[in-house]
Amino acid sequence: MYRGRASAVVRPGSTEEVSKVLALANEHRIPVVPQAGNTGLVGAQIPIGGEIVLSVGRLKRVRVVDPQGFTMMVEAGLTLAEAQTVADDVNRLFPLSLPSEGTCQIGGNLGTNAGGVGVLAYGNARQLVLGLEVVLADGRVWNGLNALKKDNTGYDLKDLFIGSEGTLGVITAAVLKLFPRPAEKATAFVGLSGLDSALALFNLAQETAGPSFTAFEVMPHLVLDIIVRHVAGARRPFAAPHPWYALLETSGLKADGTAERVLTDALTAASERGIIDDAVIASSLGQARDFWRLRESYSEAQKPVGASVKNDVSVPVAAIPEFIRRADAAVERICPGARPLPISHFGDGNVHYNIAQPEGMASDRFMGLWDDIVHAVHETVLGLNGSISAEHGIGVMKREELAQVKGDVAMDLMRKIKAAFDPKGILNPGKVL
Ligand SMILES: Cc1cc2nc3c(=O)[nH]c(=O)nc-3n(C[C@H](O)[C@H](O)[C@H](O)COP(=O)(O)OP(=O)(O)OC[C@H]3O[C@@H](n4cnc5c(N)ncnc54)[C@H](O)[C@@H]3O)c2cc1C
Repeated sequence: MYRGRASAVVRPGSTEEVSKVLALANEHRIPVVPQAGNTGLVGAQIPIGGEIVLSVGRLKRVRVVDPQGFTMMVEAGLTLAEAQTVADDVNRLFPLSLPSEGTCQIGGNLGTNAGGVGVLAYGNARQLVLGLEVVLADGRVWNGLNALKKDNTGYDLKDLFIGSEGTLGVITAAVLKLFPRPAEKATAFVGLSGLDSALALFNLAQETAGPSFTAFEVMPHLVLDIIVRHVAGARRPFAAPHPWYALLETSGLKADGTAERVLTDALTAASERGIIDDAVIASSLGQARDFWRLRESYSEAQKPVGASVKNDVSVPVAAIPEFIRRADAAVERICPGARPLPISHFGDGNVHYNIAQPEGMASDRFMGLWDDIVHAVHETVLGLNGSISAEHGIGVMKREELAQVKGDVAMDLMRKIKAAFDPKGILNPGKVL
């Protein structure tokens, strides 16, 4: 969707080099776009008017790993998958997990406050950070690399940088939280008659499985269907179709079968109460991976279906069924035959409410309806006290809408923060604000 034009790409190899680049750019008022893995979905990492791209991909040092203190200090250019491996190697878990994890990098994950499939149990990127090192627009280095869980010394600067999409500073390193690595997991794929059953199942699993309940993803039959049709090796978990499906995971710290027992108990109770229609618990690691692969192939499977309008939104968890019903009706009014393909990090209230073009319709005609469809979806979200950006950010895609949804006071504060951190406006201009 976004095509970049950069006057140069710089690839500093140290914090000091990032500092020198920014000091020079600031002196000469040259705009700079911080870029990490370039997997962002709202155009925030793309140079739109010949800016310099500052890639953090060479900042790859693992500075400290402290399994006793459950922290690690890594630089911004490590891919998320590499960071997970660093933790894994000392028998710890770094729980941030996204389908793009082989390519996206820690700098981008923190720049976007990424979410993903582990949020239900461990929180989003913001909740996984204890300290940051950031190079400011004028080249000064803010060393906020502490590893403290408690630190109430004035304003929390790190939380301003996280999720600021490269507009306030360039993150060069971070102290990240680690967790005990689960010794076992149990995974189930469940057939449901409707979205209200998904909500009932989610609540029941929370009540019965408690903290060992670590993932809950939901998709309708049409999404499963396109995945199975278009992704090599993807298989249907059930012979007969169900209107909706949920993917559940429980985790345990001891390899004693508790994770599977807890999951079985939850599903048995759900079956007795008529909440679920069918369920299969993975009997091997391979089958569990197959279930997860269905979820992770969502983006890949959409491409052969034609053009799609994409929405990353959130509403209070209990409002998800109502949101999807209202949004489906609104989309059908605007473009009869359009095919909603929602997939939900349900426990976080987050719905990727993407809509594929009607079969046989010209792609550009459908894409011409982008604004109307997005507007209707966002109206629905706001009517349910939700957010127009759950985890992907604002970038250029939602910039104009931000002012409408945030209100004057929040916009005024955000503009003042931007002016305080980057008075010459060289960092990622035209993004977010
Ligand atoms: C297939 C696929 C699946 C995805 N699934 C998810 C998902 O489940 N959850 C989710 O949250 N996102 C998801 N995303 C979106 C994307 O992967 C995430 O937003 C990711 O965190 C971006 O990281 P990146 O390294 O690619 O950053 P980039 O795309 O390079 O940059 C993203 C933003 O961060 C800023 N930035 C980059 N580096 C720095 C830095 N060092 N300091 C300050 N700012 C910086 C950029 O300027 C830009 O604003 C998905 C994307 C794809 C393609």
